[in-house]
Amino acid sequence: MKDTFKHKGLRQKLVATIKAKGITDKKVLEAIGIIPRHLFMDSGFLDHAYQDKAFPIAADQTISQPFTVAFQTELLQVQPGHKILEIGTGSGYQTAVLCELGAKVYSIERQHELYKKTSKFLPRLGYRAKKLIFGDGYIGLEDEAPFDGVIVTAGAPFVPKPLLSQLRIGGRLVIPVGEEVQVMTLFIRKGPKEFEQHEYGEFRFVPLLEDRN
Ligand code: SAH
Repeated sequence: MKDTFKHKGLRQKLVATIKAKGITDKKVLEAIGIIPRHLFMDSGFLDHAYQDKAFPIAADQTISQPFTVAFQTELLQVQPGHKILEIGTGSGYQTAVLCELGAKVYSIERQHELYKKTSKFLPRLGYRAKKLIFGDGYIGLEDEAPFDGVIVTAGAPFVPKPLLSQLRIGGRLVIPVGEEVQVMTLFIRKGPKEFEQHEYGEFRFVPLLEDRN
């Protein structure tokens, strides 16, 4: 678990890269600059950790591309103290970004292997989510609702209704919607039954699957 000057230097280059691609939120860029992404990956991929690319993690899943993580986080407009629900804990990298921004994070993962691994790993780095849950993100987390924001980090074939209904008024849902290719979509809750919808271009995610595994 080493974070060297070399890693720090590579990380600053990565920050410059995603800035050049259009990320402007200073707090988000700062978080990417702080978090040792190489520690979230298997040792075989360490050399790739600071490229702006997605990479395999355990259980056939991927750690999202840093630009995508930054893009989704920017859309979420996290303020310190916000209660945020994440669907798809995976490596925990996005969870760490949310923690850096001062959010109270609830994160759901359906793969038991990843849930176990990341539950042990994140606290070792000093990142304490409010709750990591082994469960099915399609149903959200009714017990802890309403949320200031919900972020889905897997490709959703449709928008799960509970994720909209668990937002507070003014809350934001950031979700990639589609089968083969996904359109990054932002919903802002304007009233009990009113949602504003914005679309932000195409991305590719591993699929949001039903049930636990
Ligand atoms: N946020 C992660 C991205 C991991 S990829 C990171 O930064 O590394 C997407 C993750 O979503 C995978 O770990 C996958 O197992 C998980 N996933 C897929 N369907 C799910 C569901 N219905 N509920 C919860 N997690 C799910």
